[in-house]
Amino acid sequence: MSIATRPSFAFDNSFVRELEGLYEPWRGTSVPAPELLMLNEDLAAELGIDTGALRSPEGVAVLTGNVMAEGADPIAQAYSGHQFGGFSPRLGDGRALLLGEVLDIHGRRRDLHLKGSGRTPFARRGDGKAAIGPMLREFVIGEAMHSLGIPTARALAVVATGEQVVRETMLPGAVLTRVAASHIRVGTFEYAAARRDPDLLRRLTDYAIARHYPDAAETENPYLAFFEAVVDAQASLVARWMLVGFIHGVMNTDNMAISGETIDYGPCAFMDAFDAATVFSSIDHAGRYAFGNQPHIAQWNLARLAEAVLPLLHADTEAAVAVASDVLESFPDRYNAYWGKGMLAKLGLSDGGPESDALIEDLFSLMKAQRIDFTSCFRALSSALRGDPARARALFEEPAAFDGWAERWRAQVATESLDPHTVARAMERVNPVYIPRNHLVEEALAAANAGDLGPFERMVGVITRPFDERPGLEAYAAPAPEDFGAGYQTFCGT
Ligand code: AMP
Ligand code: MG
Repeated sequence: MSIATRPSFAFDNSFVRELEGLYEPWRGTSVPAPELLMLNEDLAAELGIDTGALRSPEGVAVLTGNVMAEGADPIAQAYSGHQFGGFSPRLGDGRALLLGEVLDIHGRRRDLHLKGSGRTPFARRGDGKAAIGPMLREFVIGEAMHSLGIPTARALAVVATGEQVVRETMLPGAVLTRVAASHIRVGTFEYAAARRDPDLLRRLTDYAIARHYPDAAETENPYLAFFEAVVDAQASLVARWMLVGFIHGVMNTDNMAISGETIDYGPCAFMDAFDAATVFSSIDHAGRYAFGNQPHIAQWNLARLAEAVLPLLHADTEAAVAVASDVLESFPDRYNAYWGKGMLAKLGLSDGGPESDALIEDLFSLMKAQRIDFTSCFRALSSALRGDPARARALFEEPAAFDGWAERWRAQVATESLDPHTVARAMERVNPVYIPRNHLVEEALAAANAGDLGPFERMVGVITRPFDERPGLEAYAAPAPEDFGAGYQTFCGT
C-alpha cells in the first residue's frame, strides 16, 4: 500500500547540476513523531502532487526530511548577507534544505524547500530547528500575500515534529515545506563575489538569467539587463508591500530573492494604524526596516547586488560603476511609478496629476494625525463613494477633517468617471477587507501551540479571500483593541 501512496514529485534539479560551489549536499535530521498540521491543497494541485499521497505517513515523512522523496537531491545552499548593514560572508541554509526543483502544472520551475529540518554545515551556533508558531506564521502570511496578488514564496505544509525546541521557553517543533520561484538571493551573489571566483559568479548569473530573466540574454549586455530586471522586480514588489501596509521586518540581503518574490517571513507583520515609522521586530532597535524605510533599504540592497556583479558589467571598473549606478539610480522613479499607479487604483482614480497627488498626500497626513487603521480606511472609501460615508467617518475621531478630504476626492472621481458604483467595485478588488491581523494571528498561534488548530484554519480561510467581504467575519476586519497595539513585537523565530 505504502508504495502506491508515496508522493511523487517530478524533480529536475538544475541548481545542483549547474552550480557546484554554491551548496553542500546534506540530509535532514530524523524527527520522532511527525504529524501533519497544515497542507496547502491549492498549492499541491498547482504542483501536480496528489494530496492523498502527501497526507500518507510516507508523504508526511518526506515533508520532514525523514524520508527522501525519489529524485530529490537535497542541499544546503551557500550565501552571504548584509545583516542590519554588516557583512557576514558565510550564512547559508543553517536549518533548511533545498530538496530539488519541480516543474508545476504550468511548466514553471519551483523550488521545494524544507525549513527546520536540522543542522547543516552552515548552522553555526543554531540548533537547525524551527518551532510551530513561526512556521505557521510563515504559512498564513505567505498565503495572505499570495491572495493579495503579491509575488511570494508559499508554504506547502507544516509538520509538527513531536520534538520540543529550546527557545526562551520550550516550544513544539515543526518543519515547513515551502515553494518558491527560487531561493537565489542577493546574498548568493555576494557569496560568489566574496569567493573571488569569476567563473562561479558568471555561472550563477548565467543561471539566474536563464531561470528568471531569459529576455536579458537577448540584449547587448545581458548582465546589465539582468541587474536592471532585478531592480525593476524589487521596485514593483516593495511598492506592493507599501500598498497593503506590509512590513517585512528583516530585509537583509540574504532575505531578498532575485526572482522578485517575498521570501523569509520572520518578524513580518501588517501595520494597523498608519505610521511610516512603524517597526514590529524586537531586534530592529534603530528602525532600519521600518515601514517607510523599505523602498530605501531595497535600493541599498540592490547596491550590494551591483557591487557583486560589477566585474561582469564591463571590463573597465569605472565604466562598470557608471552603468550600474545609472540603473541603480532609476530605482526611485520605478518605485514611484509602481506605487503611484497602485495608489491611484486604491483611490479609484485613473489620472495622475497635481490634484490626485495632493489627495494622496493629504489622506496619509490625515491617517497619520488621527492614527487611522490603514486597511479599514482604504476599504471604507468605496462605501463613501456609494453614498454611505458612515463607515469611513466612524474611523476618525474628528470626522470633519475627513469630510473635507472626501468632498474633494469625490469631486475628483466625478471628473474622471461617470459611474461611482463601477469605480467602487474596482476599488474593492484592490483594497482588501481582510489581512492577517496581528492580534488574531497571535491568538491563533497560541491556540495551535496548545493543540487547537481551529482558529488558525479559520484565519487561513478568511485571508485567502481578502477582497470578498462576508457576513459574520467582522472581527477579522477590525483593528486590534487599543491595549494590544502599542507594545506589539514580533520575533525572528530562530
Ligand atoms: P534569517 O535572517 O532568519 O533568515 O536567518 C539568518 C541566518 O541564520 C541564515 O543563515 C539561517 O539559516 C540561520 N539560522 C536561523 N535560525 C537558525 C537555526 N535555528 N539553526 C541554524 N541556523 C539558523
Ligand atoms: Mg533568511
